[in-house]
Amino acid sequence: MRQTTKSKPLAVFDLDGTLAETGHRQHFLERQPRDWRGFFGALHRDPPLDEGVRLLLEAAATCEIVYLTGRPERCRRDTADWLTRQRLPEGRLLMRGDADRRPARTIKLEALRGLDRGRELRMLVDDDELVCDAAERAGFRVVRARWASTSQLPSTALRDAQEREGRT
Ligand SMILES: [Mg+2]
Repeated sequence: MRQTTKSKPLAVFDLDGTLAETGHRQHFLERQPRDWRGFFGALHRDPPLDEGVRLLLEAAATCEIVYLTGRPERCRRDTADWLTRQRLPEGRLLMRGDADRRPARTIKLEALRGLDRGRELRMLVDDDELVCDAAERAGFRVVRARWASTSQLPSTALRDAQEREGRT
């Protein structure tokens, strides 16, 4: 039987550190005060992460793709442009509200639960260990992205910011 789009399972992909290499713009967060404008302003220059893209294309053969990112809504246009430029599969793009400062794991788990209703959610691919832990505890299948330059660092400014400042 042919699957309709509606009945396809969902595959959820994070962007920063999963599909997009952010190493070149980390320095904006390593200064005080952190330069969020600079950090998000440079996202159009992110190189794609081959391993994440490979997994994404593989998933897109059987799943509907959803992009779930901690980037704020104000980056929607740049983010959508980047996805188009990289020729990545079309998919819903779920972003953080501009005024939402909750930790990424809280926001993403809420989004996953919303997506999960009546649909098979096949996997979440994300590089944030706290997000992955929370999703696994909630019963979702998780693929931990460990292929970005930033994933080699035990504690980056970005992670601190994600956890304590709820910024991305
Ligand atoms: Mg990430």
